[in-house]
Amino acid sequence: MHKNFKSVEKTVFGRGSYAQLGEIVDERRTENDGFAVYLVDNYFENKELGSSIPTKEGDLLFFVDVQTHEPTTEQIDQLRDDILKKGLPSVIIGIGGGSAMDIAKATSLMVCNEGSSTLYQGLNLIKKPGVYAIGIPTISGTGAEVSMTAVLTGPEKKLGLKCEWTVLNQIILDPDLIADVPTNQWFYTGMDNYIHCIESENGIFNNAYSMGYGIQSLQLSRDVFLGPDAGQTPENDEKLMVASLMGGLSLTYSEVGVCHALSYGLSYVFETRHGLANCICFNHLEDYYPEGVKEFKEMVKRFNIDLPVGLAKDWSEDEITRMAEIAIRLEHMWHHAFGENWKEKINLDLIKDLYRRM
Ligand code: NAD
Ligand code: ZN
Repeated sequence: MHKNFKSVEKTVFGRGSYAQLGEIVDERRTENDGFAVYLVDNYFENKELGSSIPTKEGDLLFFVDVQTHEPTTEQIDQLRDDILKKGLPSVIIGIGGGSAMDIAKATSLMVCNEGSSTLYQGLNLIKKPGVYAIGIPTISGTGAEVSMTAVLTGPEKKLGLKCEWTVLNQIILDPDLIADVPTNQWFYTGMDNYIHCIESENGIFNNAYSMGYGIQSLQLSRDVFLGPDAGQTPENDEKLMVASLMGGLSLTYSEVGVCHALSYGLSYVFETRHGLANCICFNHLEDYYPEGVKEFKEMVKRFNIDLPVGLAKDWSEDEITRMAEIAIRLEHMWHHAFGENWKEKINLDLIKDLYRRM
């Protein structure tokens, strides 16, 4: 059975395109109770972007906390309750990194679905479509702007609300918005995309569709992080935004692999941020992705990135086991990376050894 996936309906791309937001929102105001809800990464609270949100009377603006933790089910349930006190919004707009994209996607669904968001963590559990959702990324790399997942951490699991209705209706890709991301963060999130493409390519579920987007995305990433004009320039900001989008599409039609499986374990046990967790893991995966890891190390060096090593010496046996147990459950990733008989090639002990390298 081939995947039948839904894409973002409308896309605006280009420097300065953020200025079109007000007009795009106004087009939706005839739906539901006529107000818009802006969910903005709280990094922007006292910044220029935070004070230029095109709110109109009756709209709601929340600066959402993405600093202390990645998006949680509790956070989404609270936002939903706060919004519904006013009514059903016409449109929900998320502005920020992958976390803000996921918060907007999840909140859009949860204003239309009863009960706690913990009930819907998994595939196709959502009962009704959400309200119109717009995403405006301010960091590039997660692919959350095009993916059909809103990753949430709940009391029992870190798992996405995943269904067709999770996909954003509209995205506005304005490369100017990513211009000032601090170098380490720019790199960690940018590498999330680079790793998506390497993993998508190196596994049995790759195909002409995933490779078409993946190869192009890798080429753009190499320009941004490795080429003669590498670095945070306006041209590279444009390339990185498109790379993230294409990497997300590549992934949608293939799968991630060893690095993401290990990274989920690391994030779950130590709450390490997704981009950084991927970098920590990928740094030690030369046995599986030799070319990719070699290139990755060159990029780390080029930008003098802070990349923690020697972490495992402070990890207990119990922590290593817990991470490995989370990782091995991600069977689709191992299946992709090692093929049909993946259980002959990887097991709990080998996974623990991989963590001990970190
Ligand atoms: P993020 O959204 O967690 O933000 C990281 C940091 O960067 C925050 O401190 C934020 O305030 C700051 N920031 C954002 N924009 C900035 C800017 N322009 N300038 C300066 N600082 C800025 O980072 P991310 O790496 O984009 O996203 C990671 C999140 O995305 C995780 O929660 C992860 O679970 C999720 N994710 C989702 C998907 C998906 O398909 N839905 C895929 C991968 C990751
Ligand atoms: Zn990722």
